Amino acid sequence: MAITLRGYQEQLIDDIAYEFNQGRTRVCAVAPCGAGKTVMTGWMARAASLNQKRVLFMVHRQELIDQTSRTFSDLGIRHGIIAAKSPREYDLPVQLASVQTLVRRLPEVPRPDFLICDECHHIVAGTYRKIIDYWRPQVLGVTATPERLGGQGLGDVFESLVLGATVKDLIKWGNLSPFDYYAPPSKFNPAEVRVRFGEFVQKEVFDKVNTADVIGDVVKYYRQLASGKRAICYCVNRAHSEHIAAIFNRAGIPAMHVDGETNPAIRKQAIEDFRNDKIKILSNAELFGEGFDVPSMEAVILARPTASLTLYIQQAMRAMRHDDDNPNKRAIIIDHVGNVFRHGMPDEDHEWSLETVKKRRQERTAAIKVCPACFQALPSATRVCPYCGHIFIPEKEVKAAEGKLIKINSVDVETRKQRRMEVGKARTVPELERIARERGYSMRWVTRQIEIKHINREMVVNV
Ligand SMILES: [Zn+2]
Repeated sequence: MAITLRGYQEQLIDDIAYEFNQGRTRVCAVAPCGAGKTVMTGWMARAASLNQKRVLFMVHRQELIDQTSRTFSDLGIRHGIIAAKSPREYDLPVQLASVQTLVRRLPEVPRPDFLICDECHHIVAGTYRKIIDYWRPQVLGVTATPERLGGQGLGDVFESLVLGATVKDLIKWGNLSPFDYYAPPSKFNPAEVRVRFGEFVQKEVFDKVNTADVIGDVVKYYRQLASGKRAICYCVNRAHSEHIAAIFNRAGIPAMHVDGETNPAIRKQAIEDFRNDKIKILSNAELFGEGFDVPSMEAVILARPTASLTLYIQQAMRAMRHDDDNPNKRAIIIDHVGNVFRHGMPDEDHEWSLETVKKRRQERTAAIKVCPACFQALPSATRVCPYCGHIFIPEKEVKAAEGKLIKINSVDVETRKQRRMEVGKARTVPELERIARERGYSMRWVTRQIEIKHINREMVVNV
């Protein structure tokens, strides 16, 4: 089967190739959820294998093997699988591997020329470094969020960052659905739970959100904001998820809890019923994150507070898949736990960098406010709610919840503005190169800026 690439996918592949041609060996490409990462990397894997190169595609979880393998087969890419219980087929030039199995079999696996690392924000020093150092191949990492849990950068592994289309671009071009983001008054107060290793301590979170009060709100606002739509509900743990499913069912809204330990046949049936609209709510803790795709899903309910930007983006964007059967879909996101205040809107442009973000994420306050009349999350500068016409009285602090003050902090917006201005003011190649170095941008970015700014190319040669 021929692979048809979209324009922005071709562009990204071009930009990645440019980096390798410049002599870099470890490149990290950033592409949002829904950008078609597997198709792009599949295309590259096939192209490399046609060039007589050995390609190894590495995933961090066993479940992702099946899914990637299916996509590769659909694309006509013959591949071996390196995972427990799979037969060894090392003669095939494309191999799909689970990290855990691969690291145990290093001596027996033929050396790949090209290593593709899916969801590369999971790269942790030990295992991955062992694999990369063992072969020293060309490495391409792909991720929607190039930072580790807790915000540490990936600069210890990658040499350059290549930025693909943004979420806003993909919405504009119709590759992702637009969304409405609601943040009803939240009873969760992040100051009351501790953060450890970049995430809220789940046990403490559970005690705060598993109350009848909070769960009652989940049902109440689903009815008010997404009634009749198919939604995934992201919960803290199994008990929380089961509790939520039970309350939905009691309210006459068919719901089911599913997790990794659910009997596979029951799980398959649940997903089937969800696709066929027999179940409205699929409730879960960890299962439906990376790589779970039901395009007809219309809503997500965020019932688990997270300090992880990566997890937030994965969950919040889950209903934004474009749906051919429903091309005018608007995804609905109902955030009960204030994630939007920690991380901003799902389509926010991020200043990605290979460096570690110094500010602790959980202390950040996004420039977001909530319309008290319709609960839409809006940029804090909004004067009139575009959804319901509510007029905001200008004030520094916005009362967003019953008795709870949410401080709107415009520092982030200011910093971003300054960073953009710095690029705007740069007039020479060395200046651009310095910015690129400081922020971990690729040299391709510099080349593009030179084109945009019409900087004399002669200068490039002379520098
Ligand atoms: Zn409104």
